Amino acid sequence: MLVMPVILVTNDDGVHSAGIVALADALASLGDVTVVAPVGESSAIGHALTIAHPLRLEPWRDGVFTVDGTPTDCVNIAVSTVLRALPDIIVSGINKGYNLGDDVTYSGTVAGALEGALLGVPSIAVSLDRRNSAPLDFAPAASAARMLAERVLRSGLPPRTLLNVNVPTGPVRGYQVTVQGKRNHVTKVTESVDPRGRAYYWIEEGENAWEDDVRSDYHAVRAGWVSVTPLQPDLTRHDALQRVEGLLGA
Ligand code: MN
Repeated sequence: MLVMPVILVTNDDGVHSAGIVALADALASLGDVTVVAPVGESSAIGHALTIAHPLRLEPWRDGVFTVDGTPTDCVNIAVSTVLRALPDIIVSGINKGYNLGDDVTYSGTVAGALEGALLGVPSIAVSLDRRNSAPLDFAPAASAARMLAERVLRSGLPPRTLLNVNVPTGPVRGYQVTVQGKRNHVTKVTESVDPRGRAYYWIEEGENAWEDDVRSDYHAVRAGWVSVTPLQPDLTRHDALQRVEGLLGA
């Protein structure tokens, strides 16, 4: 009997997002797809794990479940309770909007795949450009996700590695393996006043000032390539170890 790979799909835009439907549909020909996704919008929630209140798992429709938590919560509840085993691959997305450069640290989409990598599951995060207001066409990103998932299922990934995939809109030239770009972060905080006279603040992404690097994810998508960046959870700055040792020795 042919054993189909077990595929777990999650996202941070929530179960209602058209991006996760397109992703699950595209992966259905590769294996048994189970979707466990946040019931609501969880973008920019990073790798948050909910520990201060209980979570509910609800069936949504066949093979689709919701959790009133984060993408990281979803992956853990999927493994412990829905699948009761590790899947063969975790794919997170398709996010409405890029997750490039330093932004991966804010991303719930990337965190879903990061949690997979920590659990020892080869994992992929997929994000789509949404710079203009035109309706999003998820098809190119869905087919990129399918192609990459097929290859990862066949060949695996190094331990504790995830792929961060970003897909531009418009004609795609092909795939480029990239490094995480660097952005001189300009977050815009707008202050306003509510009807009761109290100040409130709205955080927005301001102007992006990217360091130019031809190997970067940012450069690749701007030139029309699908960017594929291998990421790892280890944030150690290895080339700073000696300097910090010196700092402590002084
Ligand atoms: Mn999102």
